[in-house]
Amino acid sequence: MRNTTTRGILQRLSEGIVQGAEGYVFELERRGYIKAGPYVPEVVLDFPEAVKELHREFLRAGSEVMVALTYYAHREKLKDVGRENDLERMNRQAVRLANEIAREGDALVAGNICNTWAYDPGNAGETSRLVRAMYEEQLTWAVEEGIDFVISETNDYLGEALIALEVIKQFGLPAMVTLASVQSNATRDGYDYVEACKMLEDAGADIVGLNCDRGPETMLPIVEKIRSTVNCYVAAQPVPYKTTAFNPTFESLCTHAGEHAFPLALEPFLYNRFEMAAFARRARAIGVNYIGICCGGAPHYVRAMAEALGKTVPASKYSPAMELHPMLGTHVEDKDQNFLATWKN
Ligand SMILES: [Zn+2]
Repeated sequence: MRNTTTRGILQRLSEGIVQGAEGYVFELERRGYIKAGPYVPEVVLDFPEAVKELHREFLRAGSEVMVALTYYAHREKLKDVGRENDLERMNRQAVRLANEIAREGDALVAGNICNTWAYDPGNAGETSRLVRAMYEEQLTWAVEEGIDFVISETNDYLGEALIALEVIKQFGLPAMVTLASVQSNATRDGYDYVEACKMLEDAGADIVGLNCDRGPETMLPIVEKIRSTVNCYVAAQPVPYKTTAFNPTFESLCTHAGEHAFPLALEPFLYNRFEMAAFARRARAIGVNYIGICCGGAPHYVRAMAEALGKTVPASKYSPAMELHPMLGTHVEDKDQNFLATWKN
């Protein structure tokens, strides 16, 4: 357990919105440190300075949570890249790196577990044991290295999410459990997203919600229903891509040539920082407690969101001052307000 005087996640949430930031795997792939396809965070061992730098950039931009980069650092995935023997080292190192940078500010450290691709509701008994063992070993190492709470995320199955929650609770830690929302209304094991969040709350989750897959426009309507259904804290960490009613997830976006844009050709669909700032305001208005960003996320979004939520963060020192530009000279805030006027309410 971390031995710090930092306020814990539940205390912070009771006092106001907590801002998170994720998308480490996507961003480090773009920077040339992670291989697309397997998406295993080998960078943790191979280029730890690159991980620390991104943590630091998110911290300076306003993230209050350093999420240990253990996404896909589980036994099943490491087998795919022949690094099963690095499993423990990779997990421990990821938590150490997150702690090192969290101490540069007043951030919390979240242990991170995710969908395993091993869970099969058709063979729930056997696969549940496998999944549970993976989560237990990951969180044993994370707890020994020091974490404040755990984020279980991109859960495709409620069944797998409930296993994650049970394991987190075994360690006595606050649990944030968020669902992937790849399908239109329900998890892959057939639970409506809203109903599934309620069941997670009933099973002891402290924070429930959605992360990844959907951009703000298609995520917020579901999150709004979750907010009105559960009593616990709610999290929303969308991807910064323009998903629509027709293409509700970033996996479904297509290029002009009709090919899948996911995951390597998504740039034309990116939101700008003003739009993500508007998302943060909208999420606050709905009553979301944990506001973040997922794959595609980058520090300029996080800072714009933090400032939209009324915060001044370390990176605000270098926030735009376009009035000082010799030719442009227009005030950035005006654009922000214009966008807000067009954002659906
Ligand atoms: Zn994501």
